[in-house]
Amino acid sequence: MTDLSLFSTEQIAALLAALPDPAFILTRSGRYAAIFGGTDSRYYHDGSGLVGKSIGDVLNADKAAWFGQQIAAALTADRLHVVEYALHRNDIKGMEDGEGPDETIWFEGRVQALGYPVQGEDAVLWVASNITASKKLETLLRTQSETDSLTSLANRRKLMAALTEHYDLYARYKTPTSVLIFDIDNFKNINDVYGHLAGDKAIIATAEVCRDELRITDFPARLGGDEFVILMPHTSCEHALPIAERLRQRIADHLRALGTLGDGATISGGLSEMEPDDRSYEDVLKRADDALYRAKHDGRNRIVHHC
Ligand code: GH3
Ligand code: MG
Repeated sequence: MTDLSLFSTEQIAALLAALPDPAFILTRSGRYAAIFGGTDSRYYHDGSGLVGKSIGDVLNADKAAWFGQQIAAALTADRLHVVEYALHRNDIKGMEDGEGPDETIWFEGRVQALGYPVQGEDAVLWVASNITASKKLETLLRTQSETDSLTSLANRRKLMAALTEHYDLYARYKTPTSVLIFDIDNFKNINDVYGHLAGDKAIIATAEVCRDELRITDFPARLGGDEFVILMPHTSCEHALPIAERLRQRIADHLRALGTLGDGATISGGLSEMEPDDRSYEDVLKRADDALYRAKHDGRNRIVHHC
């Protein structure tokens, strides 16, 4: 432990003032008793005007209540209490339109109970670190890891997560849930005859039709290559069949209209729904895949269902 008697009071004050992250002393009732540091102006506004005010003077009711709860939690925790929170212009009282940053600023708060009263109240030291940059990066990486780069549809990883979630919902509530798997017919030939770039455009166009034609609750994904899966929550196989048929026709229309694939291209699909004996989403995916296999076998450009 540093021997503080080596420093004068002025030196200690200067030292605290030099801290790059702001450190607030907040009392149990939510008063800003003191503020130190926050000198890194790339990340922090000058908070010195807060001293003497209460959280409720500065923040809107919901946020102020949340801060109060965290102070109480830190005071009972008896150890460092770490929280993540976002502050937006709308959270700040009296902020005029156009004032303050548009974007949400993320903070990590490290909140430590002080072992002595401040101005007659229990109090905490609240150190706020601006973590917006790493939050943004985290969001970007998560989105990228779940998105197919060619079509911007959900990728296989995201699809599997969605199937797992919807299988769990089905197992609990028995809400009908259908799965369509489809694949572009003779796609190898399209690549060979019209080129890989034209092939890519056909895949992109197919994804666009999925986005345009499906309901907001439907979940289209690119499984890989020329294979797509549409998860249709709250939809029985019987109701999913006309949707799948419409999709088949619209994709064929769209690929013909591209004009870059000669007569265009068609798709074949297999459709099934979750069933009471299924042990996981893999069972319904397997039935849909078997149905797709039959659609290919029976001559392509069709939907075979397992309703
Ligand atoms: P089938 O009617 O039986 O589906 O025949 P197919 O020729 O479409 O056969 P399959 O679905 O097995 O072939 C898919 C082909 O898609 C193989 C691969 O060369 C091509 N492919 C996979 N990913 C891409 C891609 O991102 N872009 C392009 N242009 N082609 C791809
Ligand atoms: Mg194919």
